[in-house]
Amino acid sequence: MRTKTRVSRTVTQLSVLAELAYRGLVDHTIVCRHCKAGAPCAVRLGLNKAWKKLRG
Ligand SMILES: [Zn+2]
Repeated sequence: MRTKTRVSRTVTQLSVLAELAYRGLVDHTIVCRHCKAGAPCAVRLGLNKAWKKLRG
């Protein structure tokens, strides 16, 4: 029981982090002129990687 609660809380925290990472990614693509132009962007790649990692 106790273990189950801890696991579900961990999942929730991860999904919150994934949400934040996704928002950061979206915010970046809005303000970044490279992303807006559809050009390769190292920052976007990094944010995207972090988001996918957190999302699982
Ligand atoms: Zn960018």
